[in-house]
Amino acid sequence: MVCEKCGRRIRNARLLDGKWIPIDQGVVFWREGKEDRVLTMDGEIIRCKIVHPQDDTFDGIGFVPHAATCGQQVELGEAVVI
Ligand SMILES: [Zn+2]
Repeated sequence: MVCEKCGRRIRNARLLDGKWIPIDQGVVFWREGKEDRVLTMDGEIIRCKIVHPQDDTFDGIGFVPHAATCGQQVELGEAVVI
């Protein structure tokens, strides 16, 4: 699946409340923080800091909502709050 706005490869992920949002390909590692937003494996959008597991410790694995990297307006569910 490809984003209609930016042409990058994306896929859909389901949130806890049943909504679907576009996410980037691949997983990211995160730890406590406020800089970034990540969709956890549990289907929750959380504020955290995306880290490189070789440089830092991490608390979990998740996905990046595509709206964070698209650069274009992407339709998002109400569950995603900036
Ligand atoms: Zn896009």
